Amino acid sequence: MLKTKVSEILNTVFGYDHFRGAQEEIVEHIISGNDALVLMPTGAGKSLCYQIPALALDGLTIVISPLIALMQDQVSALKELGIKAAFINSSLSSQEADQIKEEMIDGDLDIVYVAPERLDTGDFLDCLSDCELALFAIDEAHCVSQWGHDFRPSYTELPKLKRRFPDVPRMALTATADLRTQKDIIKYLNLEAARVFISSFDRKNIRYKIQAKNNEKKQLLDFINSEHSNDSGIVYCLSRAKVDKTVKWLQDKGFNAFSYHAGLSPKVREKNLAKFLKEESVIMVATIAFGMGIDKPDVRFVAHLDLPKSIEAYYQETGRAGRDGLDSNAWMVYGAEDMVKLRQFIKNSEAPKEQKIIENKKLEDLLGLAEALECRRKILLEYFDEKPEWDKCNNCDNCLEPRSGFDGTIAVQKALSCIYRTAERFGVQYNINILLGKSDERVEKLRHNKLSTFGIGTEYSETQWKSIFRQMIALNLIEVDMDSYGILKLNPNSKDVLSGKRTILLSEDIKVNKQAAKPKVTKIKAEFDPENELFKELKKLRLSLAKENKLAPYMVFHDTTLHAMAAAKPKNIDEMSRISGVGAAKLKKYGQVFLDQINLNHSLS
Ligand code: ADP
Ligand code: ZN
Repeated sequence: MLKTKVSEILNTVFGYDHFRGAQEEIVEHIISGNDALVLMPTGAGKSLCYQIPALALDGLTIVISPLIALMQDQVSALKELGIKAAFINSSLSSQEADQIKEEMIDGDLDIVYVAPERLDTGDFLDCLSDCELALFAIDEAHCVSQWGHDFRPSYTELPKLKRRFPDVPRMALTATADLRTQKDIIKYLNLEAARVFISSFDRKNIRYKIQAKNNEKKQLLDFINSEHSNDSGIVYCLSRAKVDKTVKWLQDKGFNAFSYHAGLSPKVREKNLAKFLKEESVIMVATIAFGMGIDKPDVRFVAHLDLPKSIEAYYQETGRAGRDGLDSNAWMVYGAEDMVKLRQFIKNSEAPKEQKIIENKKLEDLLGLAEALECRRKILLEYFDEKPEWDKCNNCDNCLEPRSGFDGTIAVQKALSCIYRTAERFGVQYNINILLGKSDERVEKLRHNKLSTFGIGTEYSETQWKSIFRQMIALNLIEVDMDSYGILKLNPNSKDVLSGKRTILLSEDIKVNKQAAKPKVTKIKAEFDPENELFKELKKLRLSLAKENKLAPYMVFHDTTLHAMAAAKPKNIDEMSRISGVGAAKLKKYGQVFLDQINLNHSLS
């Protein structure tokens, strides 16, 4: 009985045929009155895990979320589905908040979003006592852990919900799954009795690509032009200044690009965010200040022009691509300067020594990923303690365009002796010049053209030497002196290589530039064609309807739904109702307009 009810809600309200992964099990577990901790990657469909119980159970579901700025959007999207939803946060006047509280008590609402701080007020808890409660869903539950960067003190107060409402089931949800955070959530939210549901964190639809940086602007442009000329995406940079420069440059190239960083006024940030959410084909150039909880499902690419701080940060940032499950790219370029900059950051920060050791370790792990020759996805999943049973994912650059490794011991030895002979007083470029036998006034004055290492490296080009030095830094075979800008020094690892105790495997960088413009890798899945004419027409229609109704386009229909319509070309309302993502409310509101467009296209073609 319950089972039919739950599937019926999935079908009629959300317009979906099947549950995904563990969704059904989770929903049933909750409906039977139990607590749960749900760990699922971004885009796997966490929201349905509490939205369906909210509709299936009598009474009100309270969703606790730290993302005040997004509540409005989340609620608008639910209303589009015909769900009775509301939010209470500081953006409402007290009259507006009172009005919603009244509706809660009267049983007129199914779902209410609140910020955790709201539950600090006795007043609101008293209001909850007057409501018939179905469920507490604690979203972004990792905010309870001090380990993460999203810590919110109010989350640690949430166990009082259990004390005050012991019979109401509670579920915590997050996409941050490392063991320490998981333990913190259980401990601090008092979820010892909860069942833990862990899904694989593999994001199959995201293609990972990491390349050596040589001309980042050109590389970025080639990447966007060749794969994402009409798409929405995020470009991450380390500094505000670089964000501003990159935006200007992309705008000059004709892209609809906007910036987002902590140096902009809240008003400008909000305006730019609204553009990103409500318009199509917008590129957001941002520092890491941008992103948490960005719900936009159709971000087709995330590009990094600078290295993130850790694999966790990389996975979280790239994870914002492709929430709707369609093919997406996570693309990054990086070079020696980036590593030096990040090490410098760590060195100069105020953090205690132990913290710096952890940060350095995290950076090493990230560099390991960046320099790796093996499957990137496998490295990522293993980092998060999963044990994939395959060796190749066939959807990352290393699987699709394997690069070869070569024994770089002699090259590294040459570079190290060059650093030694020039008395550890110079940076990468000077050492490369000596290796290549390039002289200038300074070289002559210092008589470095007389050194035994002068001109011993002509078997490699300057670009190749740059790549070798970058890998030496990544492999920690040399120190970069941060106090005197970028001077290279030997360390105990260098001595092992010089003495022949250690051999070094280096990788050949992918030949960037020209080839990157025409990637030889063709899309392998291409389940849907974004160039399909009908799809493009439907997108236009969606945009105009969204504007009319003051909604983000994805709130009208997701890309996946438009693709499904373009493929199935429904001829009548009944056929339209069977398209995935077309629930009863949307069928009624938009079904006919979209049918008309499909028929029009049909009769024209
Ligand atoms: P998360 O919160 O885990 O990042 P969401 O709940 O936003 O993910 O879901 C991601 C996308 O997947 C949304 O577009 C959602 O509508 C869609 N989705 C979720 N469950 C299903 C399902 N069972 N069938 C089809 N689409 C689904
Ligand atoms: Zn792979």
